[in-house]
Amino acid sequence: MESSGGRAEGSARGPRVLVVGSGIAGLGAAQRLCRHPAFRQLRVLEATARAGGRIRSERGFGGVVELGAHWIHGPSQGNPVFQLAAKYQLLREKDLSEENQLIETGGHVGLPSVSYASSGVSVSRELVVEMASLFYGLIDQTREFLHTADAPVPSVGEYLKKEIRQRAAGWTEDEESRKLKLAVLNSFFNVECCVSGTHSMDLVALVPFGEYTVLPGLDCTFPGGYQGLTNHIMASLPEDVIVFNKPVKTIHWNGSFQEALSLGETFPVLVECEDGACFPAHHVIVTVPLGFLKEHLDTFFEPPLPTEKAEAIRKMGFGTNNKIFLEFEEPFWEPDCQYIQVVWEDTSPLEDVASELRHVWFKKLIGFLVLPSFESVHVLCGFIAGLESEFMETLSDEDVLLSLTQVLRRVTGNAQLPAPRSVLRSRWHSAPYTRGSYSYVAVGSTGDDIDQLAQPLPTDGAEAQLQILFAGEATHRTFYSTTHGALLSGWREADRLIALRDPQAQLLGPWL
Ligand SMILES: Cc1cc2nc3c(=O)[nH]c(=O)nc-3n(C[C@H](O)[C@H](O)[C@H](O)COP(=O)(O)OP(=O)(O)OC[C@H]3O[C@@H](n4cnc5c(N)ncnc54)[C@H](O)[C@@H]3O)c2cc1C
Repeated sequence: MESSGGRAEGSARGPRVLVVGSGIAGLGAAQRLCRHPAFRQLRVLEATARAGGRIRSERGFGGVVELGAHWIHGPSQGNPVFQLAAKYQLLREKDLSEENQLIETGGHVGLPSVSYASSGVSVSRELVVEMASLFYGLIDQTREFLHTADAPVPSVGEYLKKEIRQRAAGWTEDEESRKLKLAVLNSFFNVECCVSGTHSMDLVALVPFGEYTVLPGLDCTFPGGYQGLTNHIMASLPEDVIVFNKPVKTIHWNGSFQEALSLGETFPVLVECEDGACFPAHHVIVTVPLGFLKEHLDTFFEPPLPTEKAEAIRKMGFGTNNKIFLEFEEPFWEPDCQYIQVVWEDTSPLEDVASELRHVWFKKLIGFLVLPSFESVHVLCGFIAGLESEFMETLSDEDVLLSLTQVLRRVTGNAQLPAPRSVLRSRWHSAPYTRGSYSYVAVGSTGDDIDQLAQPLPTDGAEAQLQILFAGEATHRTFYSTTHGALLSGWREADRLIALRDPQAQLLGPWL
C-alpha cells in the first residue's frame, strides 16, 4: 500500500464518502451530505440489521418501550433534536409549549413520588427533600472547579463525599436517623451514576464536570418512540444508501488504493468489512461508539491512530446504564406516582463494602419510573448503572424477575405482592457494536481529550486531507452522552467535508 500524497480529488461524480455507523450521528451526517450536490457517492455502513444505534424503541407491553435514549434533554430552541422532532411532529403539544421550554431543571432528576426503604417502610418526604437538596446543591457546586488548577480532589465522588462527611459531623439526630440520611444519599449517588453512565462517581473527573452543558426545558419523551426521529431521517436519504449487516473490521488510511472497476483512480482510504468486502473512499466519517473504539483500538485503524488520539480514547470514560422493564397485572403504586425510589438502609456513600455481585447487584438499582403511556398495562422501568448493571446482563430473565420481585416485596413490606408478569431489559454492555451506554469525562482526562478524539486525520496537511473524520456523542465537548450532542457532531463533520470540497458553499446553518 503506497502513500498517495497530495489531495485526492475524486471523480467527476464527486468524492466517495463512507459513514461508519447509522446512529443519529451517522444519519445526521449522511442527511446533511446528501443535500449537497457534490456528495452523490455516499454510503453508510451499519454493523447491525437496523438504524438508530442507541436510539432503540421496541414494541412491547401494548405500547412502545425505549431500550436506549429516553428523553430529549433540554427540549428548547437550542436543541437540534427538539427542533427536528418538532418539525417531524413527533412531540406532544404540551412539550412544545413556550412554558415547557423555559423550565430550568439544572439537569437534575426530579424528586421521587415515594421512597421505599429496605425494612419495608416509606422514608418521610421531608427527609428525602432535605437530602435531595443537599446532594444536588453539592453537584451544582462542582461547577466552581471548572478551569481551576487546584481542585481539592480528583473526582466528583470524592468531592461529594468530603462535603457530606463534613455536614454529617454536624447532624444531631440519633444514630439510626443519621444512617437513614446516608442511605438516602447513597440512592442519589446511584442516580448520578445512571446519569453519568459510570460505575462510580469516583471515576468522574471533578474539574471538567461543569463543562457538560444543560439546556433549558423540561425533559420530554416521544409518544410514538424515539426511533421515529431516526426513521424520519433515514427516510429522507436516497434508497440503498445504508448497507446493513456490514460490520467494518479495519480502516486502512494514508494509502493509495484502487478499485478494479474505476480504472486509474486512487483512493487514500480503504474500508475493510468483517465479511471481506472492501470499500475504497476519499473520506470516512467514523461514528462508532467509544466503547467499540476502546475494545478494537489495536485493529480498527491501519496504520494505527497517532499516539495522542489513541491515548485520548483509552483515557475517556464509557460506562453502562441499563433499563429493566417490569410488567404488572395490577399497579401496586398510587395513580399519581411517577417515580419510586428504593433506599437500602445498610448502604452509605461513605463506606465501601466489598460483596459478591450476585448477592448485591440489585442494590445499585435506583428504583423505578412509572411509565405513563400504557393504558391497561402497568409497567415500571428500573435504571441500573455500573458493574452491577453489567453483571445483571449475564443473568437470565427469570433470575432478574425473581430478584426484583423479592426486592419489591421487601421494600413495600408486602410479602404477597404479585410477581411481575414479564420482564424486558437492555444489555448495552454485551452489545458487540456498542460495549456500554455513553461517555463521561473520566479522572485523568479532560475536555481536551474529547476535542482530540474529534480531530480528523491525517493531522499533517501534506497527505490527502480529511481521510478519517470522527463523530458520535463522545466527540461533543459540552453535550457528550446525549442524542443532541451526537446529532450536532454528525453535522459538524458533514460541514467540515462540505467546506473542504466546496469552499464557497453556504453551510446550512446550525440546525436544519
Ligand atoms: C440506556 C440509555 C439511555 C439513554 N438515554 C438518553 C436520553 O434519555 N437522552 C439522550 O439525549 N441520550 C440518551 N442516551 C444516549 C444516546 O442514546 C446516545 O448518546 C446517542 O444515541 C448516540 O448516538 P451515536 O450516533 O453517537 O452512536 P450510536 O447510536 O451508538 O450509533 C453508532 C452506530 O455504529 C454502529 N457500529 C458500531 N461498530 C460498527 C462497525 N464496526 N461497523 C459498522 N457499524 C458499526 C452501531 O451498530 C450503531 O448503529 C442513552 C443511551 C442509553 C444506552
